[in-house]
Amino acid sequence: MSKMAYENLDLINTLTNNLSLIQKKFDIYQNNCFSKKTPEFFCLELNGEAGELANIEKKQWKGKNVEFSKFEDEAADVFIALINYCNARGVNIENAVIEKLKKIEEKRQVLLNNKEEY
Ligand SMILES: [Mg+2]
Repeated sequence: MSKMAYENLDLINTLTNNLSLIQKKFDIYQNNCFSKKTPEFFCLELNGEAGELANIEKKQWKGKNVEFSKFEDEAADVFIALINYCNARGVNIENAVIEKLKKIEEKRQVLLNNKEEY
């Protein structure tokens, strides 16, 4: 087993049960303290927040000063919107991410064997 394959497994082991618990706690908070919203709403919110993050990256890329806290703030918005979207849509993000990580590692190993970069 390669070094990275171990890291992939370690990541999957860390995600297992922890990400589901985090998702569930967000669901409880959302359901108890906010009005119910559709998955479509959260999908639009997620993309709006991702756009805000992209805008500050663009601002900095163009040479303007952006306070680091702005990146943290927008990254948090994206994360929260993604979890809320997954809860509203019924996506188990832990399972989805773990399955994706397995596929990424399989593909990376095939490319590595062919001496190609991912
Ligand atoms: Mg925002």
